[in-house]
Amino acid sequence: MPPDPLVSAAPAAGRRVYLETFGCQMNSADSDVVIARLAEAGWRRVDGVAEADLILYNTCAVRDHAEAKVRGRLGALKALKQSRPALRIGVMGCMAQREKADLIRRFPHVDLVVGTDQFAHMPQLLDRLGGEEHIVATDFGDFEDAQPVPARAEGVNAWVPVMRGCNYNCTYCVVPFTRGREKSRTPAQIEDEVRRLVAAGHVQITLLGQTVDAYGKTLGDGSTLAGLLRRLHEIPDLARIRFVTSHPKDITDELLDAVAQLPKVAKHLHVPAQSGSDRILRMMGRRYTVDDYRRFVERARQRMPQVELLSDFIVGFPRETDADFADTVRLMDEVRFAGAYVFMYSQRPGTAAANLADDVPVAVKKARCNHLLDLQVVHQAEQHAALHGQILEVLVEGPSKSDPQMLHGKSLGNRNVVLPRSDADGSARDPLIGRIVPVRVQRSTGLTLFGEVEPVAGTPPPR
Ligand code: SF4
Repeated sequence: MPPDPLVSAAPAAGRRVYLETFGCQMNSADSDVVIARLAEAGWRRVDGVAEADLILYNTCAVRDHAEAKVRGRLGALKALKQSRPALRIGVMGCMAQREKADLIRRFPHVDLVVGTDQFAHMPQLLDRLGGEEHIVATDFGDFEDAQPVPARAEGVNAWVPVMRGCNYNCTYCVVPFTRGREKSRTPAQIEDEVRRLVAAGHVQITLLGQTVDAYGKTLGDGSTLAGLLRRLHEIPDLARIRFVTSHPKDITDELLDAVAQLPKVAKHLHVPAQSGSDRILRMMGRRYTVDDYRRFVERARQRMPQVELLSDFIVGFPRETDADFADTVRLMDEVRFAGAYVFMYSQRPGTAAANLADDVPVAVKKARCNHLLDLQVVHQAEQHAALHGQILEVLVEGPSKSDPQMLHGKSLGNRNVVLPRSDADGSARDPLIGRIVPVRVQRSTGLTLFGEVEPVAGTPPPR
């Protein structure tokens, strides 16, 4: 693994940055770029705001709850800034892009507001701060495709953004405002980055995009996600490829065929349905019907009977009735997802849905949310029980968070699997980490499978 540039490259008296990331994996990937850029400029990352010369928040705007957390953090920094006027405070990410200069009007102790296409220029923006009181850099269209190598943490998986922005306009969503129009990186840039990641020891990559299955459309040269998967599949020592998140309208047969045919590609599709009611889907502007979604499920399962499907659902969208909600429950019962993220609708300023009264009471939203979460656990528990005795190909990712004496990994279908360590004393990095091993499932909960590594005939068990 390469050394952490923030540790190794910073001069002894280097300036210190504290960076906290909120929200999705795209934000984490952006933070890695900022950290790499700042490290080149002599900044060193620290773990607490008290020791920092620069405090950065990389923010999320998808729900008000996420923004409220950042507002709380910023409010709490006012006194620190008064006692240390040289301290720099910056806000980047989706909330910065959405609020722009309003953030500084509300929090005058914030020095820097950096949008989702401008963060790679962070060192230059900080230099400019010497001569300007505040900087708001939120223009679109200046994103550098040739990004610097991000400062990635050591690990089995590396996240690789392959596109940014979104050309859909779902009525509840701020992403088109905060991330702008869809733009794809070229296959050559992506392959180059993945080869470097594999050389650095990562064995799994996860391709990221708001609608990752739309990858390539804006390049205008016939590039598709299916083609990209086939290209990356050729990279030696790359063991597994994942991609998130897909829009139901962009899942082509060509893509499903590629996923089915390429052994390194996880048999796992994260395709948010959002609702099981056509009426609500229309109001959400999702551009498909529930039957379209059912047909996608059918097309996927025809090619890959074992494919694991993951969905997102929003409950409590304006005017969602009990009957609409029952349609969502019916869809879940029919499809039997391998996983589901469930969110209560959160009205976002500037979106089309903000013109509709947020009329589903919070208590009803909560009840519907809990209902779907409970249902999902029941479905998963049933699916997991059916796997008892079966052997899964598990990519071992590291120590289990709940029990460091055990290891944690992911099946080809992205199920969580816990297995015993292979090293007796548990003192060093377990040699199974980063390897794909056959694991026989022995027991399970609704969330996790537990198993033992299966000895392969004629070879000793992996050590
Ligand atoms: Fe938002 Fe819809 Fe685009 Fe997803 S597809 S990022 S929900 S606008």
